[in-house]
Amino acid sequence: MQKNYDHTQYEDRLYKTWEESGVFTPPAGEELKKTGKKPFTIIMPPPNANDPMHIGHAMFVTIEDIFIRYHRMKGEASLWLPGTDHAGIETQFVFEKKLAKEGKSRFDFDRETLYKMIWDYVKENEGVALNQMKKLGASADWSRYKFTLDPEIVKEVIKTFKKLHDDGLIYKAEKLVNYCTRCGTAYSELEVEHEEREDKIYTIDYGLLKVATTRPETMLGDTAVAVNPKDKRYLGLIGKMVTLPLVNREIPIVGDEMVDMEFGTGAVKITPAHDPNDWEVGVRHNLEIITVIGTNGKMTEKAGAYAGLSVSACREKVIEDLGNKLIETKPYLHSVGVCYRCHRTIEPLPIKQFFIKVKPLTEKALAALDSKETVVLGAGMDKILHHWLENLRDWNISRQIVWGIQIPVWYKNGNKDDYVVSETSPGEGYTQETDTFDTWFSSGQWPVVTLKTNKPGDFDAYYPTDIMETAYDILPIWVMRMMLLSIYLTGKSPFKYVYLHGLVRDEKGQKMSKSKGNAINPLGLCEKYGTDSLRMALVMSTTAGQDSNTGENKVRGMRNFGNKIWNAGRFITEKSADEIVANGEKDEEFKNKLLVVTKEVTKLLDQLKVGLAAETTHNEFWHWFCDEAIELNKQKLVSDDVLKAGYKTMLTLLHPFVPFVTEAVWQEMFADQGMLISYSWPK
Ligand SMILES: [Zn+2]
Repeated sequence: MQKNYDHTQYEDRLYKTWEESGVFTPPAGEELKKTGKKPFTIIMPPPNANDPMHIGHAMFVTIEDIFIRYHRMKGEASLWLPGTDHAGIETQFVFEKKLAKEGKSRFDFDRETLYKMIWDYVKENEGVALNQMKKLGASADWSRYKFTLDPEIVKEVIKTFKKLHDDGLIYKAEKLVNYCTRCGTAYSELEVEHEEREDKIYTIDYGLLKVATTRPETMLGDTAVAVNPKDKRYLGLIGKMVTLPLVNREIPIVGDEMVDMEFGTGAVKITPAHDPNDWEVGVRHNLEIITVIGTNGKMTEKAGAYAGLSVSACREKVIEDLGNKLIETKPYLHSVGVCYRCHRTIEPLPIKQFFIKVKPLTEKALAALDSKETVVLGAGMDKILHHWLENLRDWNISRQIVWGIQIPVWYKNGNKDDYVVSETSPGEGYTQETDTFDTWFSSGQWPVVTLKTNKPGDFDAYYPTDIMETAYDILPIWVMRMMLLSIYLTGKSPFKYVYLHGLVRDEKGQKMSKSKGNAINPLGLCEKYGTDSLRMALVMSTTAGQDSNTGENKVRGMRNFGNKIWNAGRFITEKSADEIVANGEKDEEFKNKLLVVTKEVTKLLDQLKVGLAAETTHNEFWHWFCDEAIELNKQKLVSDDVLKAGYKTMLTLLHPFVPFVTEAVWQEMFADQGMLISYSWPK
């Protein structure tokens, strides 16, 4: 054996040997059923096909690979099904930035051309993402790999939409949606971020009463003023009319309990087209809807003299034109919804969109949580999911972008209210809806569609899956949707356990970001210190649901651990010719301790306490095996053959965490027994 472990000589070669041996590929479901072998399944959260790897990817690859390697060694048919996501708006946004650099925009191309260009761009980068996962040692079954826009996946997603439609769970309606006028698309409530902002609140004289508002420009679309019917100040006014300043339109004063008597003057302007609360008031009082802001972010024709102005320019002009009708202006701190991609203020706009009625779906997901069919790990995460499920509003699944699956709705002669749902054109005179599905509509079916479109019998054999492991910040946006749609499609919750890892922060506990310059590049660290060092640094600090800290120092430190494993192997291999046979007492102690360590690590992995399992294995190997047992052997108190057998067991326990160095030593010492990756887990 060489003096030191040099990861650059082993990692790529060992990965190739594993992959070519077929050990990553468990049998097709049909075959598996015949063997009666126990399945173990993890569906990989599909990263954005276009995204270079960041530390969060390295975290999920490490944790999932540990579970998969452990269960494979236990003799289970372990399937880790990989894939990538087209990531709708995220990818289109990145692509548009690239176009902008070339002096072009999405409006320079027709739909088909733009789609084709993004497709080529994504496919070019897809290989990079996959190779990076391999570099991290991911023992995933690449022969079952899926992309969210593979034709067979698209077919299944469309089938789901049709089923929902046939079951009466899809409807088209004009509702206020969260719209980004920069990205040119609507979003669901889950995609809107909130920012604290220092704005102003304006008090405007409406004649019979005064109203307070943060958005004077929307007054052009006011169709009522509302007061609380319990408010004694305005008792006689409900039912009367006021004249809307600047516009000179007569609008009613309505009584509605939504109005907060403490806010401003206790009287509020009602603009159903541009505020979600006002929309509700409009529905209750049957008010007219006047849309004064368009999807391009400019004032519409309905804004009269203000048509064509941007929202902010219109606000300034309205304030100026109000003259002495503007009574007071005060600073005001409030939370504003912004686009999660480009951070422009979200405009609530009335648009006709397709919605899923979520109530029948959320009830079943809640039942699956209550019956523990699915268990969510991580402190408080189960409660958060409950909260989302109990409060979820109908899901708007229309997106006004080209990068996605086009909604399979067909209109006869362009009549947007008369439609049929069909995979292909129903005939002459039909045109297809141009909107595409929300990305999360397809990824929300991921556990079902990836297995249904794979090898024969895969769905029956490998569904429901065992663990869904992902970042906690996508619990509502993704994990919840997978529960809703998968239960709807199959009657069974898609996973037994949800393991949520936290953010990986820097060594000082700060959030990593490119702009702060504290982000670490996982692949750079793999090259410098070896993949095992990065994996160990990541996993040892992790607890479900909690953030963890990692940095270069920690990874560098872990390189010593890899060397420790290697050197112990070398010590055992290169011992002098005189074999040590001890008197037996310490040998028994050694064997008993090894049994205890084995049981402990096994128990922790079965409980999904992957961080503690890594720590235990690390500490026992370092402080017990190396510091104590090897010393006792040097003192001739532990026999050579006992020590060697113990080392072999330690290698198997260490393998899921540090697969490369353990396999490298194994090939030096125990090659006659096959590969460590497929060796049995000790009992
Ligand atoms: Zn945006």
